[in-house]
Amino acid sequence: MVKEREMKKNQIVNVVISDITSDGNGVGRVDSEVIFVPFSAIQDELKVQIVKVKKNFCYGKILEILKPSIDRIDSDCDVFGKCGGCVFRHINYDAQCKLKKQFVENNMRRIGGFKDFSCQPIICLPERRNKYRNKAQYPVQMQDGRVIAGFYSPRSHRVNECQTCLLQPPVFAEIVAAVKEYVISQKISVYNEVLHTGSLRHIYIRTAEATGEIMVVLVINDTKLKNIEVLRDKLKELLGEKFASLQYNINTDKTNVILGNKCIKIYGKDSISDVLCGLEFRISPLSFYQVNRTVAELIYKKAAEYAEPSGKIVLDLYCGAGTIGISMADKAKQIIGVEIVKEAVEDAIFNARKNQVGNVRFICDDAYGAAKMLKSEGIKPDVIVVDPPRKGCDEALLKIIANDFDCERIVYVSCDSATLARDCKILCELGYRLKEVTPVDLFPATAHVESVCLLEKDTVKAKNMFCKD
Ligand code: SAH
Repeated sequence: MVKEREMKKNQIVNVVISDITSDGNGVGRVDSEVIFVPFSAIQDELKVQIVKVKKNFCYGKILEILKPSIDRIDSDCDVFGKCGGCVFRHINYDAQCKLKKQFVENNMRRIGGFKDFSCQPIICLPERRNKYRNKAQYPVQMQDGRVIAGFYSPRSHRVNECQTCLLQPPVFAEIVAAVKEYVISQKISVYNEVLHTGSLRHIYIRTAEATGEIMVVLVINDTKLKNIEVLRDKLKELLGEKFASLQYNINTDKTNVILGNKCIKIYGKDSISDVLCGLEFRISPLSFYQVNRTVAELIYKKAAEYAEPSGKIVLDLYCGAGTIGISMADKAKQIIGVEIVKEAVEDAIFNARKNQVGNVRFICDDAYGAAKMLKSEGIKPDVIVVDPPRKGCDEALLKIIANDFDCERIVYVSCDSATLARDCKILCELGYRLKEVTPVDLFPATAHVESVCLLEKDTVKAKNMFCKD
């Protein structure tokens, strides 16, 4: 007989938060029921209302904080909880970092099965808690006859106006206001994602922190917007010398994917240039670039420390605009970068030339396809750096890395510790040993945590590192 659920929707219960999940929800228990409570903190005593009852758990909304956790602080943002961005503005920075380190450790234990490994202290820059992002993409929407640009509410496609996001440089809000003014004054139509009508979809802004250059890209369901010179002149006036580029990105597909694959320059350059690890990098709109440049430098430093590239052939898989590989090129014998986005590879080739780095080769292909090709060429990298998107690496790629390349060390840079743990487990089954993991707080106030991880070839075999249970 199916057990009757104790908990009912709208029921009000008192609960103590004992844990936080890696997506940022507090966890409490009432009898045998698990309740997830967003925006709570460990040791909070709360009065919550049950808002959703699922098969094995429910979700609760805080009605009252009966006794606050010692980690709690007052949120400094008006739209915290509404905008879908930050999840940790209500707890102090030390507590955030402690949690993020635990997320990585837990995933390495539970998913990777590693019981005895070295998790280093989290790398973080407390002074970079805010205004750390160099990129933002604001969806634009009409709501009750008003033009709204901001961020989606959690799990929704309704845009919340967000004038001053604390994670972005303040000038981004001024640019958004200028675009809105242009949209209203020139009667530019705004995209409707249900009907697939209207022109302006997103305002995409990037800045290069070191040079101050700013790029504004209008993502449009169209070929151009009328009287665009009005906006160009306004941005010139607003941004002065820093206004480096105005472009359209054409996206006429009925899709949730923000960017289309064609950009058209309206003003200035096709790209902006930043300085990272003392080197200059050109970044085009379609190329990946780390959103928190200063902390990214610390990741690259750690990756270089783990890679020990001196005199080595380094394969930089998922290389974006070539940043990790080029930053190690002065020591390495050769760098081979692999990246699937054509524009990023073009940037990488340009970036190598610009920095007078000659010992590099870039391949535009899927990581697995390129690895197969390099294997057939008889190339044997000594060190492999992988920096995949959240879904991690394909098992077939990991097999080529471990079985065919048989390299001394693997440096895994990861933005998702669950897939990192899964992939490290596979690599250890294939003869590597997990040497060290360093978490990095690349995205303060969110639940995301980056990790840099070193695996070494293990002749003894990694078996006894796995949990028995
Ligand atoms: N290492 C770079 C980029 C990391 S982001 C940096 O630090 O800036 C991950 C990159 O992997 C993106 O540039 C993305 O375009 C690329 N990518 C995604 N899937 C890929 C695949 N299957 N093969 C190769 N590259 C891929």
